[in-house]
Amino acid sequence: MKNKALIFLLTLLISCASLFQPLQNCEIPAHSPFPGGIINVDFTYEEITKPNISVQGKVPFLCKVGSYQWKIIYPISLEEKNSKIQIKLDNKVIQEITIVPKNYRVSKIEIANLEMVTPPKKSLERIVNESKILKETVKTVSQMTQSSLKMELPTLGIISSEFGVKRFINGKPRSPHSGTDIAAPTGTDVRAALNGKVMLIGNFYYAGNVIYIDHGQGLLTSYSHLEKIKVTKGQKVLQNQIIGSVGKTGRVTGPHLHWQTILLGTNIDPTLFLNSDT
Ligand SMILES: [Zn+2]
Repeated sequence: MKNKALIFLLTLLISCASLFQPLQNCEIPAHSPFPGGIINVDFTYEEITKPNISVQGKVPFLCKVGSYQWKIIYPISLEEKNSKIQIKLDNKVIQEITIVPKNYRVSKIEIANLEMVTPPKKSLERIVNESKILKETVKTVSQMTQSSLKMELPTLGIISSEFGVKRFINGKPRSPHSGTDIAAPTGTDVRAALNGKVMLIGNFYYAGNVIYIDHGQGLLTSYSHLEKIKVTKGQKVLQNQIIGSVGKTGRVTGPHLHWQTILLGTNIDPTLFLNSDT
């Protein structure tokens, strides 16, 4: 009997936690239903508990925008081949999103230094290890919440290469560009795009000096090719706080920031998190 009362009390507490979850503003990122974009749709759920939503077998980012109003936010991979993505509540389809094609720019570059194109054998083990660490890192889903998902451009500079660009190096196709490049002089401040917690810092073969910040519920940002890292692992950072400086470490041809936004392990266009007039 005592146990039943305890279970009842716990269930009530969990339900109330959802009811009193502070409201969030999730107008940004705007609904962008194309590969490399984001699903952001409204959903009304007249229960005090959090809805049991799934998309492609994953739990999406849920934003509480009203007492019973939610926004379902889900990344669309650049490799997405389906023309429709289903949203399910308790395993029943409640919405179907039509994915529209998007043509990303093609970039063809020639690099004379072949070591820059194909890594030397002695670096292969390092590259494999680093890729394992990064794969684990992007799987992070923490319980941190944000009052808004609107990000700030992390450095002052010129966008030199957009997200999703289809790249060819010396005529060979490479993976599409996973982030947004911002060209700026070495030493320019790099700031956190959103409040969060530093979850990884390191010096990697491709990314150079890099920082990964966790923003909660599977949303992460990363900052590559830094000259200096000015934060430590586990440190909490506020939006706009200086975290490092622009550099040209790792595999680059000149100083710039490679800024990446990852949601539930999928790279999406970081600029979708900025104001549309930015
Ligand atoms: Zn880049």
